[in-house]
Amino acid sequence: MNKITSCKAKEIKDSRGNPTIEVEIGSEDVFMSASVPSGASAGSREALEKRDEDGKGVQTAIKNVNEIIGPAIMGLDVEPLNIDELLLELDGTENKSNLGANAILGVSIATTKLKAKLENKPLWQYINEISGVRVEPSQPNLFMNVLNGGVHAKFRLPFQEYIVISGGETVKESYGKSLVFLKKLGEAIKEKYGKVEMGDEGGFSPEMKTIEEPFELLSNLMDSDMVIANDVAASELYKDGVYSVLGEEYSSGQFLNIYKNLVENFPIGSIEDPFDESDLPSFENITREVKNWDAKALRKGIMEDVLIVGDDLTTTNTESILDSTRNKRANAVIIKPNQIGTLSEVYKAVKLARGAGWKIICSHRSGETMDTFIADLAVGVGAYGLKAGSPSQEVRRVKYERLLEIEKEMEK
Ligand code: PEP
Ligand code: MG
Repeated sequence: MNKITSCKAKEIKDSRGNPTIEVEIGSEDVFMSASVPSGASAGSREALEKRDEDGKGVQTAIKNVNEIIGPAIMGLDVEPLNIDELLLELDGTENKSNLGANAILGVSIATTKLKAKLENKPLWQYINEISGVRVEPSQPNLFMNVLNGGVHAKFRLPFQEYIVISGGETVKESYGKSLVFLKKLGEAIKEKYGKVEMGDEGGFSPEMKTIEEPFELLSNLMDSDMVIANDVAASELYKDGVYSVLGEEYSSGQFLNIYKNLVENFPIGSIEDPFDESDLPSFENITREVKNWDAKALRKGIMEDVLIVGDDLTTTNTESILDSTRNKRANAVIIKPNQIGTLSEVYKAVKLARGAGWKIICSHRSGETMDTFIADLAVGVGAYGLKAGSPSQEVRRVKYERLLEIEKEMEK
């Protein structure tokens, strides 16, 4: 059995230029590294990302890897699930506040990559086996974020993410269609809005005046086999019981009606975090009600259901997911490894949500790195979708390119 013979962490910068952590783990002369992304619209129940006293640096997290985790795992077998268990024990807290979810996740992912490498298996295949998901690996739908708003773009657009999903038999085909769409969108925006700013996930961010305007722009350019997905990230719009959008205030009931109108008039196939993470009755209402709406996306015959997706609601946390599946607060879930900290917990979250009939959407974070692990994860657990932002940013494009590479590996 191969043993861990080295473990070290260092600082790199994420796509926002903020410090983050990269961990390298080795067994003799084989080394693998992993880096950890960082969110901006984080759910309140996410595991703690360890930052230094200045709120930015990651020297404490690095020290925790180099001086606590490293010595504890040195000489142990390269067995990711056992290492995860040890990491949880070493940390000893509910939310990873002791060592930091960033320190822990870097080690968890690097160990998994190392084991796959030692076994000479593609990472997605190894993930499929070790996760125990009992579904075949498969390529996800590409949730490509093309318009950025909310906290990712100083609220120039009311919702955080306007995503397009293109049809296609293969990733190559759907990626190709999405790229053509992106180019058309860029030209249309230039013509209508002039030069516009870009958001954190590389999407265009023109300032718009109405809730409908971004939907009109997108749907006018879309082919018949494309749908829109949104991440509203509504926790960022919610204060004192009301949702503030473009200077207007809405009650939960009024906000629900806005969604009904949008879903009936535009081909919207998926809505993530439509309400604040604490506004639980509204999640229950929309998940029930959406089935009765005359959804344009369903009329197009592309989707079977409009997805109501939990992210801040569920934070890749098994307890939160269980609570939400029992209360039917959504029908799909975002899986972000750094919301929880170890891959063992990620696999549990996936199995739990899927067991309740929910769709799985793996996701990057708004502060990303060049690590492409999330693409292998999506394929390995047979996720319905992968959110990877706009390929206009290199940190996002490499995730799509990794899927293209996997497509070739799957043919072998
Ligand atoms: C999201 O909310 O789904 C997202 C990717 O943004 P962030 O990483 O800022 O939470
Ligand atoms: Mg989200």
